[in-house]
Amino acid sequence: MNIAKVVVDVPASQTNRLFDYLIPEYLIGTVRPGMRVVVPFGPRKIMGFVLELTDQSDFDKLKKISEVMDVIPVLTPELLELGKWISEKTLSFYISAYQAMLPQVLKAKYKKELLRLTKEELPDLLEEIFAHRDTLAYEEFVERQGSLAALQKAMQEGLIEVRYLVKTRETKKTETMIKANRNFMDLEAAIAELPPQASKQKEILSYMADNSEPVSQKKLCSILGTTRATIKQLIEKGLLTEYHQEIYRNPYEDEDYERTFPLELTEEQADAIAPIQEDIAAEKHDVFLLHGVTGSGKTEVYLQSIQKVIEKGKEAIVLVPEIALTPQTVQRFKGRFGSNVAVLHSALSAGEKFDEWRKIQRKEVQVVVGARSAVFAPFENLGIIIIDEEHETSYKQEDHPRYHARDVAIFRGDHHNCPVVLGSATPLLETYARAQKGVYQLLSLTKRMNNASMPTVDLVDMRQELHAGNRSMFSWKLKEAIEDRLAKKEQTVLFLNRRGYSTFVMCRDCGHVVECPHCDIALTYHRNNERLKCHYCSHEEPMPVQCPSCQSETIRYFGTGTQKVEESLTKLIPNARIIRMDVDTTRKKGAHEKLLNQFGNGEADILLGTQMIAKGLDFPNVTLVGVLAADSLLHLPDFRAAEKTFQLLTQVSGRAGRHTLPGEVVVQTYTPEHYSVELASQYDYPSFYRKEMEMRRAFHYPPYFFLTLITVSHQNQVKAIEVTKKITLLLNNELSPQASLLGPTPSPLTRIKDRYRYQCMIKYRNEPGLSKSIRKILAMFEEEIRQNDLLINVDMQPYQLM
Ligand code: ADP
Ligand code: ZN
Ligand code: ZN
Repeated sequence: MNIAKVVVDVPASQTNRLFDYLIPEYLIGTVRPGMRVVVPFGPRKIMGFVLELTDQSDFDKLKKISEVMDVIPVLTPELLELGKWISEKTLSFYISAYQAMLPQVLKAKYKKELLRLTKEELPDLLEEIFAHRDTLAYEEFVERQGSLAALQKAMQEGLIEVRYLVKTRETKKTETMIKANRNFMDLEAAIAELPPQASKQKEILSYMADNSEPVSQKKLCSILGTTRATIKQLIEKGLLTEYHQEIYRNPYEDEDYERTFPLELTEEQADAIAPIQEDIAAEKHDVFLLHGVTGSGKTEVYLQSIQKVIEKGKEAIVLVPEIALTPQTVQRFKGRFGSNVAVLHSALSAGEKFDEWRKIQRKEVQVVVGARSAVFAPFENLGIIIIDEEHETSYKQEDHPRYHARDVAIFRGDHHNCPVVLGSATPLLETYARAQKGVYQLLSLTKRMNNASMPTVDLVDMRQELHAGNRSMFSWKLKEAIEDRLAKKEQTVLFLNRRGYSTFVMCRDCGHVVECPHCDIALTYHRNNERLKCHYCSHEEPMPVQCPSCQSETIRYFGTGTQKVEESLTKLIPNARIIRMDVDTTRKKGAHEKLLNQFGNGEADILLGTQMIAKGLDFPNVTLVGVLAADSLLHLPDFRAAEKTFQLLTQVSGRAGRHTLPGEVVVQTYTPEHYSVELASQYDYPSFYRKEMEMRRAFHYPPYFFLTLITVSHQNQVKAIEVTKKITLLLNNELSPQASLLGPTPSPLTRIKDRYRYQCMIKYRNEPGLSKSIRKILAMFEEEIRQNDLLINVDMQPYQLM
């Protein structure tokens, strides 16, 4: 097989196919599918992925592969298949799909180095080039025409490994090490010769004489209370030497984790885990929905399922939403499986992520816990995939390729014949609907552990507060409850959703929200021309001066920021200690954890924050949760607004009273009668599901209809509108009469970074030709996309409608 079929790194529709390249003689047998290669392409040399090997081509004159970038394939055959599937499903280019599966470090330019791992002689072919050195630049290996086959073999035998040296600083961490340059007798002699006032230098030397091991400069300074300058004097005298040593990056030190052991399952847990474990044993693929209220012990079900997988010698992927990937969460998995767990988290540096990824690639771990992209972990023997909080929208990637981790998980589960477990207290409507239809298997945990009850939820009608003369953003009830906790030295979590800031218009007197007459979606306020617009259809109207419902003049747009809340809270309850958590206070690396630790240590009475505090927090001393404006999500221009409100209120409520102290939740709202607010306060998911499904059916939304969202953006507004119109016209000719096409209409966020955004949306039940039609249309605009800075985004499964 001397021909490689390659996907090249040119994201364009003409190049979105396989190109044939000749494998040079000396690389035959070593080039394998899943490796990255450098190939000539036009006048340039570019990167590409080898997908297949063959020995015939339809073309006569083939160019040769210039170079291989990997010695061992970075993508497995399964991931190569998966990439094709993703690119078809999401209308993205093959190259984008493959790039998305690899850690950042492998996308950047880097140098490679071969590292000797053995003290023994290497096989002749290699030792000749290594010449007893410990490391060898890969370039030198190539120049001297080293045998790749021999290298591959040596790597498989663990004699050599490839190290990637990236030029960015973060990928390589080193520390300065100090070691004695003389034996200890000489050091003692040197001490005697130093003048009496050089006491610090003497101390250092005697420490080095007593401890023969090299020591890091940092440690030396801190033990002896000395400085770099003093050490340097000794280095200059030739008594000590310094060198730099790479630190093995381990952001989650294993010894920090307290070991935990399997708990005896409750009856409900045992019933839920049985079918999962049966699938693991029988190597069978099913999708399970584990529907369990917060605190019902879902994690223990995950852990004991994973245990079974490990015992079978297989591997497990656990996905957790980015913001729930806290040290607390990591502890639960590391505590049970120790160093058998890799963690993939976006807060890790590119180098740290790469280290974790390599542990997976080398099969040094059997479990990975991570955010969305961990679903691509290059395991080859998967025994289970778990997606916790499966309803979270962060599982959908909002950039090329626009894949959903759930779909990828199910693809992989099917490939590996293993179960996929979706866990949530508030499943996505689509997921629950599939479980109802029997496409997924429903497993339920209805009780909280230790028979703890869910905290009681009080709905406070903010319209009545206003009528009674309270103009503050805190109801009397909430203020009293906070003061009560302060007196009892218990803690409060206050939740404010900032999304939807200043967008919808509401009457503060009667809670009426202005909605589109055609779409059942709140209209969005546009400050520049004082108009209200629907972002699904093209309806618009002027900003009303009076409430259309009660004629009050207190109708205005709605929204407040966390900072403002903190200010008024401080005025209202001056002695409360507050920690504010939002994008502003958590920007710095590690800030998130630091603030949570402070709160956990009781350094504050109130944790005030945005959606980032809604998940995963588990503080025993929190007995009150306050939701300042339950409605802020409800009126987003999004057909999932009610569902998101229900999810959020449920999640937030779950933060209170998780342990022995009973919890209380106060929810402030202008629409206490809205079914999502009311049913969330009763923890009644099934009723919410039924009600919401009726709405979806009536207004033709998922899961009854599929949606495709096309967003066009350009610096020139006219251009953006024009292109959107053209696309709409073209689509109109292609769609069946059952499909409906909405738009062109401005996106809810009409201008971002000086680019105007327009969109159109397709609602349909069955359009088998849709992908092809859209690809055709996209190809027509490709020239303009390249030349004219036009952007057209197609989302086949939109979760963000902004
Ligand atoms: P969920 O993930 O459903 O929100 P958790 O897994 O966090 O629930 O469980 C809540 C608490 O109950 C945790 O502190 C957990 O350790 C504990 N727990 C779970 N299962 C058991 C069990 N079988 N016996 C005793 N405690 C349990
Ligand atoms: Zn509308
Ligand atoms: Zn009104």
